[in-house]
Amino acid sequence: MSNRSLVHVEHLTRYYSLTCAVNDVSFDLAKGEVLGFLGPNGAGKSSTMQMITGNLAPNAGQICIAGIDLLDQPKHAKQEIGYLPEQPPVYRELTVDEYLYYCARLNRIPRGKLGAAVGIAKDRCGLGDVGRRLIGNLSKGYQQRVGIAQAIIHNPAVVILDEPTVGLDPIQIREIRTLITELGTDHGIILSTHILPEVQATCNRVQIIHHGKLVYTDSTSGMEQRMNPTSLLAAFQNPPELSSLLQLTGVDSAEQLADGRVRIHYSDTDPAAVLVEQSVGQHWGLHELAPERRTLEQIFIELTCSETPVNEDAA
Ligand code: ADP
Repeated sequence: MSNRSLVHVEHLTRYYSLTCAVNDVSFDLAKGEVLGFLGPNGAGKSSTMQMITGNLAPNAGQICIAGIDLLDQPKHAKQEIGYLPEQPPVYRELTVDEYLYYCARLNRIPRGKLGAAVGIAKDRCGLGDVGRRLIGNLSKGYQQRVGIAQAIIHNPAVVILDEPTVGLDPIQIREIRTLITELGTDHGIILSTHILPEVQATCNRVQIIHHGKLVYTDSTSGMEQRMNPTSLLAAFQNPPELSSLLQLTGVDSAEQLADGRVRIHYSDTDPAAVLVEQSVGQHWGLHELAPERRTLEQIFIELTCSETPVNEDAA
């Protein structure tokens, strides 16, 4: 385990009867990291998060939070975890101040420090002006801020957020994502989400779980590299034989599409310039040429269709 590791999970395994929901999962989270935890429904995200937050016992494995063994010293380790479940545990009939004082006391913050803890959490979550408002009368975006404020009220090392922007409007989503990015600078954050662009907007690392196993882990920029184009779409007035296209430097394969266009796959060298040159020389009449960028959805589907780890770190 590295010294900087805020969460250290090793060989984490959980069965429900005969179903293996989490299968030998290991990973670390460092300070300053916002880790996007992705996976299809039933992949094992919630079970993993519940084990890390101390709400579900693993069948095997080890969990350390800020260097404290969660299974040996649960009370001590849980002080370093803030958790926002998918349904924020807010009381609609309390004011924001009443609720946050209550959460601060639940987290055993000493009486003399309650006011300061509530003040800091409100400041960080942009709740300074709504302390006396009833939570039930706040917009969903503000209620979510209150949910995040209760998660950070005891200044934990690790903040775990389950689907934090579900049900918010685009402006609220942007505000909550900005807040998460800010919190990421001095906490470690694990964020479960189904929304792939959310990972690009807020996370600096991503891991994908499928059938209980980690199948991919990489930096967000590494994942974006995988989205670089590796194919071109071309349309010709006088289409050449596919075999002529295969002769071009860099082309791995070419396929005829139903709409008359041709998809040209390449790996190292982009054949666009050679293709244009040849088209002029051979009178192919090239009138459309566009790089095809892979989407995050495609990568996600590729990864969750493969059964074996595709990244050394995940192995
Ligand atoms: P996710 O959060 O990625 O949707 P879960 O961790 O909720 O995945 O579920 C992982 C697997 O464990 C699924 O096959 C699910 O049906 C099963 N599972 C989850 N909770 C229970 C439970 N309490 N009892 C039995 N099976 C469960």
